[in-house]
Amino acid sequence: MLAASACSHSAGGAARSARQMAARPPASNPKHTQTPASQVDCTKAKCVALTFDDGPGEYTGKLLDDLREAGAHATFFMLGENVKGHEVLLKRMVAEGHELGNHSWSHPQLTSLSSGAVRSQVRRTSHVIEAASGVRPTLFRPPYGATDKRVGHAVGMPEILWSVDTLDWEYRNVARNVRVGTHEPKVGGIVLFHDIHKTSVEAIPRVLRGLKKRGFTFATVSQVLQGTKLKPGHTYLENVPVKAHKPKPKPATTAPNGTPPAAPSGAPSAPSGTPSAPATTPPASPSMPPTPSLSPSVTP
Ligand SMILES: [Zn+2]
Repeated sequence: MLAASACSHSAGGAARSARQMAARPPASNPKHTQTPASQVDCTKAKCVALTFDDGPGEYTGKLLDDLREAGAHATFFMLGENVKGHEVLLKRMVAEGHELGNHSWSHPQLTSLSSGAVRSQVRRTSHVIEAASGVRPTLFRPPYGATDKRVGHAVGMPEILWSVDTLDWEYRNVARNVRVGTHEPKVGGIVLFHDIHKTSVEAIPRVLRGLKKRGFTFATVSQVLQGTKLKPGHTYLENVPVKAHKPKPKPATTAPNGTPPAAPSGAPSAPSGTPSAPATTPPASPSMPPTPSLSPSVTP
């Protein structure tokens, strides 16, 4: 199934698209190249990308400590409105080899905004992230995974969803986060967590140990997707190539608009590559049908 939910703020289903394959991601930032990033070759290593949304926040520093201790790199999809006051954390992310991504300014459901409003959400956020860290984000994650062709065009960056939705924002349970985060990821997967929840951050040391035991190397999203040509407005769930962008017809069912938490509805989780990945998805509300990962294209 496809990713649908997400984010701590509940979720609505959303449209999705598909992925594609090809050659190499565009660019990264000329100014800073996240250091270690370039040292991982996911065409050879068994890579997985841990991603943390909705921050930065009060637990992000502890998370960075744990990632550093494990020698792990991750990707942070941040909200522009949360950057102020946390500039030091962003600089640290860059210095320690993490990838900084854009998750909108205030977490609205973009499919319900005008294209101009979508562009504003994206631009303002990229601006504050770059101002704080020196690095301009090249990847975007739509709140709730809600996007469609129009939104993708307005965003103007590759949209990164996920193949494993831990539903950490919904359950807020450390043991569950550890179990799901350790056992569901597959090679080339993109795992969704939220660093604004204490229970999520507390689970990470054990998730890192468990995944290491399974032989995984922790890479950034760009590293995991290396070899895939990332196109603006297209959506990617993991490193399995897919087809072109197809807007999803169904609307999000539960979708909250930028509102926070609330509903659990969220997610249809997403294991794209993981057709079987069930557990994670409880109440799925989304309207999206499952999508086999390798499957051809489109996502719901
Ligand atoms: Zn989010």
